[in-house]
Amino acid sequence: MPKVRDILNQIIVEEAQRERICRRHTSGKSAHKIVKGRACLVIPTNATDDPYSYCAEAAKPILDAAWAKLHSLYNALGLTPPA
Ligand SMILES: [Zn+2]
Repeated sequence: MPKVRDILNQIIVEEAQRERICRRHTSGKSAHKIVKGRACLVIPTNATDDPYSYCAEAAKPILDAAWAKLHSLYNALGLTPPA
């Protein structure tokens, strides 16, 4: 069977090995760092060589939007998403 292409291969969850900047919460009263040992969503960006890291709270709307987009792609092709 041919290998299925992985379109999300650059989107990963990593455990921070050191303190990281949360790209969603860089300023204001919600500003915070991602502490060492905490899981974070890591997404590449064209803006810098370093991918952006997001805390779980910030990752939720990003993943929700991706989920909705996947559903719309299934619908546009007349396909049923996996349960
Ligand atoms: Zn955050």
